[in-house]
Amino acid sequence: MEIPQSSICGLDRAELQALLAERGEPSFRADQILDWLYKKRVGNYSAMTNLDRGLRAHLEENHALTGLETVDWEGSGDETRKYLFRLRDGRFVETVLIPASPSFYGERSDRRTLCVSSQVGCAYDCKFCASGLAGFTRNLDAGEIVAQVLEVERLSKARINNIVFMGMGEPLANLKHVLKAIGIINADWGIGIGARHLTVSTSGLAPQIRKLADQALQIRLAVSLHGASDEVRERIMPINRKYPLEILFESLRYYRSKKKQHITFEYILIEGVNDAPEEAKLLASCARSLSAKVNLIPYNLVEGLPWRRPSRETQERFQGVLRSEGVPATLRREKGHDIEAACGQLRLIEEEKRGVVGVSLPAGREESGA
Ligand code: SAH
Repeated sequence: MEIPQSSICGLDRAELQALLAERGEPSFRADQILDWLYKKRVGNYSAMTNLDRGLRAHLEENHALTGLETVDWEGSGDETRKYLFRLRDGRFVETVLIPASPSFYGERSDRRTLCVSSQVGCAYDCKFCASGLAGFTRNLDAGEIVAQVLEVERLSKARINNIVFMGMGEPLANLKHVLKAIGIINADWGIGIGARHLTVSTSGLAPQIRKLADQALQIRLAVSLHGASDEVRERIMPINRKYPLEILFESLRYYRSKKKQHITFEYILIEGVNDAPEEAKLLASCARSLSAKVNLIPYNLVEGLPWRRPSRETQERFQGVLRSEGVPATLRREKGHDIEAACGQLRLIEEEKRGVVGVSLPAGREESGA
């Protein structure tokens, strides 16, 4: 088996066994390491006391456990926290913890949701989003995705029980690594979060939606729709030229035919662009045809972009139309707006922030309890 260059948390069980077999280690060593990493949650090899010193030293020298360096974190008034991590190649990625939030699907719960990034930057250039402003840099590998979960759990001391792929990047453009990360996050020997608590969000990559439908796990799918006609959607999402609504919906029907989970449409309300009652009617008919739910997100301001959020009254009127058409629709209360951790506010870290590279989290800033 060819073993990918990755941190340990980017390997599945068989790959870790193969890596250890190269050194003549028995396969139960892999389970010991997985147990330390995912169950006992130790942060370094020296804590893995049932491995002999030679093996520990070898691993220490050659394989990072998570490979992420915590550069900074910011807390928000509403308890949302944004973490800034440095990757092994010096690039940055952000991850957002949304504790005890009303769930993505509306009901109240004790969910602790982690919003993970799947790419550095984004290539899809949605006109309202900060993440694509500086373009696309690269895909994250599976380890860099899994590591976001492990590191945030370690820093916050909170157990995450819900993950949304709604940070920076387009997860379906990085399907291979995202699926591998999902496998590790879901596995009994790994983080162990149930597939129903994992949501992949896409700007609408129709062929990849089909591929996602063809794999076995019952993960959830969210589609960033934001326009219920090609005319409106095209104005704000260039991807719609490649995969117009008809093609997108065809792929979603296929997805529905393969999965039990309901699809969620995310729909940002942008003043004067997509917030009229006629748009709500169109959206309702799209949602009904796919038995989808709608999650309305009042637009979050992005510096340098011209878009505005409609009044609360307009937001509620829009939601009212959907509901009167029989479509389940939640209106999301914003989270993390004050620290630019809200949807669409994650952006590539500018040069000036590179100045802080190498500064690890100051002692005492680790949070206590959750
Ligand atoms: N590329 C994927 C994953 C990113 S998810 C996708 O598009 O689904 C990030 C979510 O935040 C998407 O629904 C996106 O459309 C939304 N978003 C982007 N900019 C926003 C903004 N300024 N205000 C509110 N939501 C925004």
